[in-house]
Amino acid sequence: MLSRRPLVAGNWKMNGLKASLAELEAIIAGAPALAGKCDLLVCPPATLIAMFAWKANGTKIAIGAQDCHPNASGAHTGDLSAEMLKDAGASAVIVGHSERRADHGEGDALVRKKAEAARRAGLLAIVCVGETRAERDAKKTLEIVSRQVEGSVPDGATPANMVIAYEPVWAIGSGLTPKPTDMTEVHKLIRERLVRRFGAGAAATRILYGGSVKPDNAAALLLAPECDGALVGGASLKAKDFLGIAGVY
Ligand code: PEP
Repeated sequence: MLSRRPLVAGNWKMNGLKASLAELEAIIAGAPALAGKCDLLVCPPATLIAMFAWKANGTKIAIGAQDCHPNASGAHTGDLSAEMLKDAGASAVIVGHSERRADHGEGDALVRKKAEAARRAGLLAIVCVGETRAERDAKKTLEIVSRQVEGSVPDGATPANMVIAYEPVWAIGSGLTPKPTDMTEVHKLIRERLVRRFGAGAAATRILYGGSVKPDNAAALLLAPECDGALVGGASLKAKDFLGIAGVY
């Protein structure tokens, strides 16, 4: 099986102004020590992508976006296409984050189209899936995640153009995390579903964990079997914490 190089991606969400360039510079400064062991990606708000991509050009830090429209261009006021994000210097885009699913009513069919758009534009798609607290309490985690993976992952997905992030909704921003063994059970299920659909080569797809990852819990989660890295929210806003998380590799 192909080796799965870990990816640590920071999702800045709706945080960051031009002054945040200093934080990116600190991440860039710390990256060479880690870059032999994992890929590092920072996804700032769209307003900062071009500036961050310019600053990160030629460094060990890649820049990504947090969402894209399915279409390449057209009458979609306020939206950004995957092609535009690529043109601004992004190399990846998060799609189907639970905050977009909840705040903007995005369902699996739309997420799949966004992931297709990412592939069309040559961006790595980071497809997010994960159950709510109520779904977990009802013991529906595996059923929900299976359905999201089936519905959100497009035909043509490969380990080179797509990463999955398993992000239990109840763990995001809450300080709570699943037991590593529970996380591994879900990661295994996701990998099985991908292999069943795409064949044995899909086992090389990177599957991340996201939800309240911090430097002090990163080793237990990220070094678990089947886990290929992290999608980090709050802790990615501080270079020290983001680098501390990646430092487990
Ligand atoms: C996220 O929203 O993708 C996330 C993982 O957030 P946090 O790390 O803040 O829980």
